[in-house]
Amino acid sequence: MYAPRRFVPSDLNAGDWAQIAPQFDRLESQVGACQTVPDLERWICDWGELCAALDEEGAKRYIAMTCHTDNAEAEKAYLHFVEHIDPQIKPRQFQLARLYAAHPLRPKLPRKQYEVLDRDLQVTVELFRDENVPLETEETKLGQQYQKLAGSLTVQFRGEEKTLVQMARYVEEPDRALRQEAWELVANRRLQEAGKFEDNFDQQLNLRQQTAAHADFPNYLEYAFRQKRRFDYTPADCVKFHDAIEQEFMPLLRELQSRRRRQLGLSSLRPWDLAVDPLNLAPLRPFETVEQLVAGAQRIFDRLDGSLGAGFQTMRELHLLDLDNHKGKAPGGYQSTLAEARLPFIFMNAVGVQRDVETLLHEGGHAFHTLACRADPLYTYRTNLPIEFCEVASMSMELLGNEFAEEFYSAPDSNRARRDHLELVVKILPWVATIDAFQHWIYTHSGHSRKERTAAWLKLVDRFGDDVDWTGFERVRDNLWHRQPHLFVHPLYYVEYGLAQLGAVQVWANFKRDNAGALKSYQQALALGGSRPLPELFAAAGCRFDFSSSTIKPLVKLLRDELAKLG
Ligand SMILES: [Zn+2]
Repeated sequence: MYAPRRFVPSDLNAGDWAQIAPQFDRLESQVGACQTVPDLERWICDWGELCAALDEEGAKRYIAMTCHTDNAEAEKAYLHFVEHIDPQIKPRQFQLARLYAAHPLRPKLPRKQYEVLDRDLQVTVELFRDENVPLETEETKLGQQYQKLAGSLTVQFRGEEKTLVQMARYVEEPDRALRQEAWELVANRRLQEAGKFEDNFDQQLNLRQQTAAHADFPNYLEYAFRQKRRFDYTPADCVKFHDAIEQEFMPLLRELQSRRRRQLGLSSLRPWDLAVDPLNLAPLRPFETVEQLVAGAQRIFDRLDGSLGAGFQTMRELHLLDLDNHKGKAPGGYQSTLAEARLPFIFMNAVGVQRDVETLLHEGGHAFHTLACRADPLYTYRTNLPIEFCEVASMSMELLGNEFAEEFYSAPDSNRARRDHLELVVKILPWVATIDAFQHWIYTHSGHSRKERTAAWLKLVDRFGDDVDWTGFERVRDNLWHRQPHLFVHPLYYVEYGLAQLGAVQVWANFKRDNAGALKSYQQALALGGSRPLPELFAAAGCRFDFSSSTIKPLVKLLRDELAKLG
């Protein structure tokens, strides 16, 4: 599955700096010797080959660590890479970016092919500060501590030790007292650690502010926009997005919640009433074993498109799936790219709920993205895909895959699964706006106290909130953001989900009109990888990169109509 290397020695130990450094030395000396455009293009590919080897080493260690957060060897290997390899790579990468940026042949490179790479590398040169390297290392370590803490939490539930992930299914139980018991146990367990979460966050916030100041930015928000290569939208666009979500989506969310309240026969909704089926049907149980989950997903991908099905089949054969939940496994799900093999890997915590099916469809969409662009000669176009579009790939797959929910369920249960998912789409957008607006606030109010931060949070929870009664659990509400890993591990990375969700709903709307045409555009857009700017990627997939009410209104209408059809 690996193509032979052309530049990097085949026996390179990518975890040993003494062996890595000479590769950077060679690249530095060779770039000066490039006499022609093809020489420079070849050098860019050599550089990409080294990047891929290092990237894959880091990814493999991350995968091993998150699969076994309680394995000391895996933790040590990951931390070695984070603390001793990564920090040494960064200044060397920066030096190469600088040599590239200053190269006399750079303006002669074919513009269309290199423009995205070019603007990315220019930002790398513009933002790099030596003194930020140790701060970033410290931040990564704090992120890992957050994950370790969050992943280690368990509760005693009816005589058994359960992870918080395993507890999620009980809030779907029809028995209201049981739901409340399970919900309170989890909420209180998290609250016990609230001080630790706040401490961890404050340390990270401090590091982030320093990082931005070193790079001459007035605040971390503006720094992060540049660092995340958000060339195609601004903080002001995000504020407009928040407003449009409030205006267009909140009325639908409130309708759905009052319907839920009526169906449950309650005078008010409590936090443990949000995940249960409103007709008090037992939770959907799409599968018992991970093998059944994989087989069902395979059938869905096969029905959508033969090449998607074949891609998933390959992942199964190459053991690129780690799907079951067990103690010591980090929370959540992700798709990681093995950059040199040019293959995807999927990690998740399946426990037997519909959400697991959606997670696998979602991560499957990411995996198809990785596979679709694996032939691109440029490392950066295969691996540095803009998240705003990556999430279109994954979230579209949730919506499209659910069209074939019958692979897991009877017809009425399939409609239920689809309805639950569409309700989630309606619910997630205000949540994205909340988290994003909160981060805007955090990073533009330096020196704020924890009290002020909580007050800002509550204001947003009210604005994008629902009609849930939190009486008696105000402290839980104050600290709800602690469970959102992005704030800790990927700062300011969240609005992407909202922008992408709107793209995904557009792909789904296209699919409803024209199955084959929508899938064709979807795959063509995925094959572009990171080679084009965002508006072009969206356009290739048949969507608008615009988040004003004019784009959002028809999507809300479609969601409302579909929900009405599903009963
Ligand atoms: Zn994703």
